Amino acid sequence: MNHKPRRSLRVTVSLLALTAFAGTTPKASVAQVDLASLQDEAVGWLQEYLRINTVNPPGNETAGAEFFARLFEAEGIAYEMAESAPGRGNIWARLEGGDEPGLLLLHHIDVVPADDRFWTTDPLSGDVRDGYVYGRGALDTKTGGILHLATFLALHRSGTPLNRDVVFMATADEEAGGFFGAGWLVENRPEIFDGIGFLLNEGGGGSEVDGKVNFGLEVTQKVPYWLRLTARGEPGHGSRPLTTYASLELIAGLERLRLHEFEPRIIPAVHAHLSGIADRHPEPWRTRFADMASAIGQAGVLRELQEYNPGLHALTRNTCSLTRLEGSSKINVVSPEVAAEIDCRLLPDQDPGAWLDEVGSVLGPEIEVEVLMGFTPAVSSTDTDLYRTVRDVTLETFPDAGFVPQVVGGFTDSHFFRDLGITAYGYEATATPSGDDGGVHGNDERVTVENVRRGVEMTLRILERFAAMRPVMEED
Ligand SMILES: [Zn+2]
Repeated sequence: MNHKPRRSLRVTVSLLALTAFAGTTPKASVAQVDLASLQDEAVGWLQEYLRINTVNPPGNETAGAEFFARLFEAEGIAYEMAESAPGRGNIWARLEGGDEPGLLLLHHIDVVPADDRFWTTDPLSGDVRDGYVYGRGALDTKTGGILHLATFLALHRSGTPLNRDVVFMATADEEAGGFFGAGWLVENRPEIFDGIGFLLNEGGGGSEVDGKVNFGLEVTQKVPYWLRLTARGEPGHGSRPLTTYASLELIAGLERLRLHEFEPRIIPAVHAHLSGIADRHPEPWRTRFADMASAIGQAGVLRELQEYNPGLHALTRNTCSLTRLEGSSKINVVSPEVAAEIDCRLLPDQDPGAWLDEVGSVLGPEIEVEVLMGFTPAVSSTDTDLYRTVRDVTLETFPDAGFVPQVVGGFTDSHFFRDLGITAYGYEATATPSGDDGGVHGNDERVTVENVRRGVEMTLRILERFAAMRPVMEED
């Protein structure tokens, strides 16, 4: 499914890592961690991380990986680095523990481009202003990475025995599909993931609207299927139209697809998501979301939902958007071949083969369908100790918050790991104030210092309960 060119394997292993593999384990001091100083350090690390240019393209994630490598060396933690292509660095480090299924803390190093004309600060400044840390990646997803880092280092510094391995991992290329990052590691370094049962990644977290906080923990995603549709026919001159030709065949097929209604259905994960957020919405949506499986049977409801909230509508059915069209390169030439590309997203329990058959029969035999990219659908269970631990710590921190399992319309690197049977959750221990969430891929991306500090404490509490066998934090 990865149609990008394969690059040769290039692995760099630090001297320290080699020493650790040779049998000398760095000596860990045994001391409980002072939370306030760890929080100070985390804010400083975030500023430093935001100043490293990892805009993708080209990514240059090796610079970000080296930032972590320096910290691991200073702490005496063995790590490994591997480049999937020049400059496309990935790094991981492992704290060894008992036999329980291991936990992987994953985030991506790369960020999307930023246009500094629309920012009030340099997008790579990492400056703290009015209680915010500014910089591309502050929300997506360098803060998440620093919360993982601070927690990982705290576990190491405390010297607590762990009931399971805990692996920190920072990867390249998520913003362009992850094939040079998480996807590459899964294919080229599969041994890293042996024994891993759980993953925490981006994709969920908290938001704060009018003082009311709500958390969503992502358990599954719509599954992208990107299709290229090609029609062929007699070429000719624009002055002598034929009865039919490639462009007309393609348009006719696309029109059949536009009129085709993919059957709506409410899968259990979507029911849990919609009923969990129902009371945040005005009527009639409050009532409808509480029992969406019934509501979709009423005439016109889905069309209304698409107008009210296209993102939630997308959770009720398979969808396709027409995004690219290619025709003749000259206005007076009837091209023998034209193509369209469509971005389709399947419900997470959809059998892709059956869906492809459906699309093929709607388009008709004149149109060739090529799958450019497609993932395997999977849903992570909420019946786990990790889910309960994350929920409990979140609700202890925010007693009035909502907390729901969430289905998201976009995709992250988590699908690579759900494919391996790993229970993957999208969760970041921050509550983004309303208005600031526009900074994800937008302008003036920023995170409150308070969110970073509180996020360190929450993430550490989650890990302390889920993986540590002794308290990690000093009690005041
Ligand atoms: Zn991201």
